[in-house]
Amino acid sequence: MKEGIHPNYGETAIKCACGETFSTGSVKKNLHVEICSKCHPFFTGKQKLIDTGGRVDKFKKKYGIVDKE
Ligand SMILES: [Zn+2]
Repeated sequence: MKEGIHPNYGETAIKCACGETFSTGSVKKNLHVEICSKCHPFFTGKQKLIDTGGRVDKFKKKYGIVDKE
């Protein structure tokens, strides 16, 4: 078998928005993804930084809800 007969398939570097890079076999090159196993909430157990807290506070103020802790 000659080398280089399958030029389109091989290791491809994938870069995530979080900066993590990993490689996989693919015909595509230099893929970019928004989320990966390193930063996905399902894997990290953390929520992404979304302004949910601020919205909840506004909601509470609007309806006069006060936290009782
Ligand atoms: Zn990531």
